[in-house]
This record gives sequence, C-alpha cells and structure tokens, in this order.
Amino acid sequence: MNTTPRPDHVTGMRCTLCGKTYLPGEVDYVCPDHGNEGILDIEYDYDAIGRRISPHSLARDKTCSQWRYRPLLPVLPETPAPSAVVGWTPLYENPRLAAAVGLDTLFIKDDSRQPTGSLKDRASALAVMKAREAGADMITTASTGNAAAALAGMCAADGMRCTIFVPRSAPRAKVAQLLAYGARVFLVDGSYDDAFELCLAAAAEYGWYNRNTGFNPYMAEGKKTAAYEICEQLDWQCPDAVFVGVGDGCIISGLHKGFLDMYRLGWIDRLPRLMGVQAEGSDFLYRCWEAGADPVSFPAIRAHTVADSISAGLPRDRKKALKGVADTDGAFLRVADQAILSAIPELARATGVFAEPAGASPLAGLHAAMAQGLVRRDTTCVLLVTGSGLKDVDATIKACGAEPPIISPTMGALRDVLGKIERNQNHKR
Ligand SMILES: *Cc1c(COP(=O)(O)O)cnc(C)c1O
Ligand SMILES: [Zn+2]
Repeated sequence: MNTTPRPDHVTGMRCTLCGKTYLPGEVDYVCPDHGNEGILDIEYDYDAIGRRISPHSLARDKTCSQWRYRPLLPVLPETPAPSAVVGWTPLYENPRLAAAVGLDTLFIKDDSRQPTGSLKDRASALAVMKAREAGADMITTASTGNAAAALAGMCAADGMRCTIFVPRSAPRAKVAQLLAYGARVFLVDGSYDDAFELCLAAAAEYGWYNRNTGFNPYMAEGKKTAAYEICEQLDWQCPDAVFVGVGDGCIISGLHKGFLDMYRLGWIDRLPRLMGVQAEGSDFLYRCWEAGADPVSFPAIRAHTVADSISAGLPRDRKKALKGVADTDGAFLRVADQAILSAIPELARATGVFAEPAGASPLAGLHAAMAQGLVRRDTTCVLLVTGSGLKDVDATIKACGAEPPIISPTMGALRDVLGKIERNQNHKR
C-alpha cells in the first residue's frame, strides 16, 4: 500500500466487474481480485464539486484549456499541469455537411487541434500529473500511435521521461512525433495487443508509471473533458447524439462519464445517445453489442483496418464502452474501410477539418446511422474528430485516388494540362 495523497473530492475507485471499492493509494491501477479485467471507475463527491464549480462560475473562467474543469478531475490542487495547452478545442456548426448528410443541425468537435494532434492529449496530460503525484520519474505506454505521441508530447512539456511501445506498423508520422519529443521508443514486431502485454510486463518489472488505456483508471477521466466542452460550448444544451470512432472504448467511456458527471451535477437534464463507430475489420464491440454477449468472456478477434487508431482485437475498455452505449440508448455502427477513407475528403471538403481515418470514421458512422434510420433529420448530432489527417498522409492519398499531375514551370505547360482536364470533363458530361 502506498501513501499517495488523495484529492478530497475523490471518494473511491470502484471495480467495474465486482463493484468492490478502493481508496486511491490502496491499489495502483486495477482491482487486485480481477487483474487486467478489473478496470476501476473513479468516484466523486458531487456535493463538494458542486460547491467549487458551476456553469455560472465557468462563464467567468478565462482558462482556455481542459483545466477549466479541474475541480472535476482526480488531481491534487497543487499538482502542476504540463505546459502544453490541452483541450478547449473548437465546436462549430456546419450547415453544408449537415445538408449533405440529411440533417438539420450538425456540429464538429475538432480535437485534431490538440497539441500533438489527437484527443489523447486530454488523458496523457493527466497521466503525467498522476505520475508526478506518485513520485515516478518514468512513464510507459503501449499504443497504436496517438496515445504514445500524446504521452511523449506531454512528457516533453513537463520534463518527464517516457518509454513507448508501438506496433512496427504504426504510421510514420506518429513515430516521427515520438522521436522529436525525445521518447525512448520500441517498435514491437507484433500487434497493438502484443505491445500492450509487453508494456504491462515491462512496467511491472521496472517500476515505471503505467499510462496504458483500459488499465490506468485515470485515462477516461482525462477524455471526459471533451463531453464537458461540448455541453458548455452549446450553452449547456445537450446534443441528441455524439458519434465517435471506437477502438479500446476508452474515449466513449470517458464521454459517458463526462455526460454523467454533468447530469449528476444538474448541469444538463439528459444524456446524448453515444454512437460508437467501429471499422469492419475491428468490430469486437459491434459484434458483442449485436449478440448481447458478455464482453468479458467474448473471444478476441484479429483486428485489421486502415484506421489504425481504432484497431483493437480485444478492446481494453469493452465493458465500460458497452455500458455507455446501452445506458444512453446509443448504438454501435460498423463501417467498411472504404467508407472511412471516403469520409476523409468528404469531411475535409465540407468543413476544412482534415482527419486521420479514425477521426473521419464518425462521419462514415453517421451515414450508416442515417441509412439504418437510427437518427432522423431533426436529431442534433456531434461528430467528434479525434485525430489529425497529418498523422497518416498515406491513408489520405489512398482516399483521394490519383496523385496530382507534375508540370513544367511554364504557362504553356499549365495551359496544356488545364485544356486536357477541361476536355475530359466535357467528354464526361
Ligand atoms: C485512440 C483513438 C480513437 C479510439 O479511442 P479508444 O479509446 O481506443 O476507443 C479514435 N480516434 C483516434 C484518432 C484515436 O487516437
Ligand atoms: Zn473486482
């Protein structure tokens, strides 16, 4: 048992399997009775929180980061946040995309604009703070890429060291980020699931602070700030449905937690439907949800998708993710890689937001939900764009088809090529 001090608004950590509650400091990450499956959920004293923060106090708060919600986060008041500015990303309406999809109202929440280009910064910033509180000097994580880039970036912004395990198939841009931020990186010759197991073993052996998704109970707490921002940016009107790409299920569980927090505090009067979008080749949660199966015993699949950030054969937060969808009357949607790839230019051309495949997957999921009648024209929807298109340019070039023509730097050459293009278009008409 360690003596890590406990923020006084955190009342406990409850095992999502057996319901047993622990005090922070009593256990490190998971329920000792249930090993890696015993993911803990942080519990709060909402009366105490309600005395410290409210929509009214927030209206006067000039903090333009997720730390405006600090009284709702499981950190000590004195722990410094990394210097990078995380959160408070823009939410905006896009009537053009709404019309194209067949909706009256559609919002984009653009988390591609986080410091390291993905929503994972919300969790990784918190991980660095929890590691500081625990007195650690090294943090580790396995990741399909973005959690690693986020951890490396937040560690750089804090002067903390980290050791990263990513599958060797991780997109080059994500690996480049790791190198630039000065992380110690291992490219694992295996899948994300293999990297995860190796990272857990290494953390146990070397005593590193463990940021792994669906293991460290604080990560969903960082991700929940996206839910707060959506509601505050909509003037405390809850949207009807939120679409998000789902791999391990930590983001969607975090969103559920965030909306629940606000509901318990009386800031919103209902929860939005959580719509989890999975790739056809990484559809564990979709299958489990459709079969009404127990996610804990459901067998792992072999995941393969162009959307590397939502590739997970055994989603770590599967239990919380299924509960989030079930409790909000939401749905899981399964979309083909081709639909995800087409969503990249569709989103970019209608909104100016350039997403990586997993970040564009909510738009593919929205199309599927419309086709299935799960949302109607008057359903107010939010697409959570979780990662930047600059993370994976190969996927985009694939999505957009032909490469641009190469021309000599002369007007003659340009006239020639433009003429050809026009003749082609006339021909097609
Ligand atoms: C991690 C990630 C997701 C999926 O989050 P999970 O918690 O694994 O479900 C979606 N999109 C992007 C860009 C991500 O990095
Ligand atoms: Zn337990």
